[in-house]
Amino acid sequence: MKQYIVGPKWDQRVITIDPKGDKIGIAMSGGIDSWVLYNLLPNKDNIIIYTFETPSGVDDVETVYKLTGRDDIIVLPTMPEDPTPVKNGLKVLVREYGLNQLYTGVNQVPHYKYFPEFQEENEPPRPWRIDSDVLITPFLHLYKYHIIWLAKDLGIDLSGTQSCTTQPVGHCGTCWWCREKQWAYDQLK
Ligand SMILES: [Zn+2]
Repeated sequence: MKQYIVGPKWDQRVITIDPKGDKIGIAMSGGIDSWVLYNLLPNKDNIIIYTFETPSGVDDVETVYKLTGRDDIIVLPTMPEDPTPVKNGLKVLVREYGLNQLYTGVNQVPHYKYFPEFQEENEPPRPWRIDSDVLITPFLHLYKYHIIWLAKDLGIDLSGTQSCTTQPVGHCGTCWWCREKQWAYDQLK
């Protein structure tokens, strides 16, 4: 078991990494959160990596290949008619692949009371609490700035990650995800 104290001095939190079982999976998007989480997991060569084809057509898959250097990534289609493709996809993963645990890097959105500009229809779904021994979300109560802080502390290179959902390479600077990333860096100033 490994624990990390993460975040700037005004908001430090504890995360625990403690995989249980032989078949450990991680859902990766090519963004910062899942890439940092992947780096924290032990026995990385045995970790099973999943990624989803995004409905927007932005290719995360190539980014995950490049980041991890792995050629055995399982790519799952997302169905446009499925209102919560990622959520349902995660359930399918555990059931069909017999995973002991599935990790995701899901975390909190910027707090609306203080940052109302992030309250939008197309914000990513991020739950408040997940009580599961199978779906493991060590970053659930972190904000993006904690994860960036941790990457810096551990020397994890974020330059190959892709957060923007409107373009496959580079960052537009105006979509929800680009603005969240900039917000996180601003918090660390
Ligand atoms: Zn963008």
